[in-house]
Amino acid sequence: MSSDTSLSQTVRRFVNRPQRMLIGGAWVESRTGATLESIDPATGRRLTTIARGDGADVDRAVRAARDAFESPAWRDLSPLERGLLLNTLADLIEAHADELALIEAHDNGKPVKVARAVDVGSSAKLFRYFAGWPSKFEGSTVPVSPRGGLKILNYTVHEPVGVVGAIVPWNFPMSMACWKLAPALATGNTVVLKPAEETSLSTLRLAELIQEAGFPDGVVNVVTGTGAEAGAAIAGHAGVDKIAFTGSTEVGRLVERAATGNLKKVSLELGGKSPHIVLPDADPAQVAEAAADAIFFNQGQTCTAGSRLYVHKRIYDEVMAALVERARRIVVGPGTDPGTEMGPLVSAKQLARVGEYIASGRQEGGALATGGGRPDGLGEDHRDGFFLQPTIFVETDHSMRVVREEIFGPVLVAMEWDDIDDLVAKANDTPYGLSAGVWTHDLKSAHRIAAAIRAGTVWVNCYNLTDPGSPFGGYKQSGWGREMGREVLEHYTETKSVWVNLT
Ligand code: NAD
Repeated sequence: MSSDTSLSQTVRRFVNRPQRMLIGGAWVESRTGATLESIDPATGRRLTTIARGDGADVDRAVRAARDAFESPAWRDLSPLERGLLLNTLADLIEAHADELALIEAHDNGKPVKVARAVDVGSSAKLFRYFAGWPSKFEGSTVPVSPRGGLKILNYTVHEPVGVVGAIVPWNFPMSMACWKLAPALATGNTVVLKPAEETSLSTLRLAELIQEAGFPDGVVNVVTGTGAEAGAAIAGHAGVDKIAFTGSTEVGRLVERAATGNLKKVSLELGGKSPHIVLPDADPAQVAEAAADAIFFNQGQTCTAGSRLYVHKRIYDEVMAALVERARRIVVGPGTDPGTEMGPLVSAKQLARVGEYIASGRQEGGALATGGGRPDGLGEDHRDGFFLQPTIFVETDHSMRVVREEIFGPVLVAMEWDDIDDLVAKANDTPYGLSAGVWTHDLKSAHRIAAAIRAGTVWVNCYNLTDPGSPFGGYKQSGWGREMGREVLEHYTETKSVWVNLT
């Protein structure tokens, strides 16, 4: 038997196995015994069931996380020992990278090679990066000038906030979980994590690896279930000290209201409608390739998707011809097929939602340059899968919903521009502010646009690059706070100022 066959059998067994939740180091059913179905997006058929956790399960998990937070087994680990645990987890993720990627391809639908390179690869890198921080996140000594000539030593220390409630979406299931786990654990917190109900499987496998790495029981707890039940219970729980949420702006608002009701700390990574800007000196072929990748990567289900394309009118026709041609060549198929470039959308609900946007774009006067329907030739087994063609709208303007709202699917709207001030105004004409891209060799224009765009990330002559060392997050309604880099450590710690009278 080849190792490929044995890997696919191992993964099949895992994704078809009824799944339980990890609470306080034990794998448990939900208190009620209720379950939810996990669906294979490439076939529309059931993969397995996951536990449907609710408020009572969240209660158990928060108690386990509090006990672990206060236990010497976690609290008394030295910074180097904590860093070592993170590094061991990175080793295990790398050792199981093919398996984790294939689980993600089954459960989320994304191409296995994308899952391997992006989701799994970046998760291991993230734990490596954060493994270095426990021993380096220093406080400071402050030269204070107290009244009465007292001699004072004043210093600051960073301490963990306590129990972190992490709620994550389905588009990058494992890596979004790791974006919360790595900084939370590096700074000594404990975590109650809720994956999205559509895609809990890779996180459950990751939880097994967390146990194998040797994290004490209760340091990481995973409660699966719906947003309205398990998610809302975490957001409003009085025993949770901080909420780290990634998801839609709409749900982010609900989470913020529930969390700040008892004054928890909150960080939010929310939606986007990112402008992708092409200046007249850019190379049309290169830009067409990049624009296709920026929107169709991960089936367009990317918060930073380059979903609004603005091409200078001098090269608009040439870029669009190459882009449409590229979109038509994208190989759409099941994520588990190694040749697939774009998989199915995550769920029937998401396919219906994106379909409604396509209908609204047509009604409001947009023209389809390509796509808009179901791809041909997928075969009988995939008849009920959630597939959609890469889709490009032209003849669009800022009055249309497809231009204004986050679609979160493989749908691009393209517009031409002439005047740079008008272009910048249009790029900023959105409630979102997550990211933007600019293509040009003209340094002055690149920096001018980068400065003028109200967004947390601007990519110049590249797109969708991230790194654990570089802060990521949104302006405006794209979120609160930053993930990754040194900045994220502030969100997971309290700073204590200590005054010692030396007089
Ligand atoms: P979603 O908001 O529907 O769900 C996200 C998570 O919140 C899920 O785990 C869900 O179960 C939970 N949830 C739902 N209702 C809840 C409630 N009332 N209380 C608490 N939790 C609740 O988002 P989604 O559809 O899973 O993901 C897509 C969205 O995520 C898009 O808007 C996308 O832009 C955004 N996103 C943002 C980033 C970023 O870093 N800015 C990254 C990835 C995705």
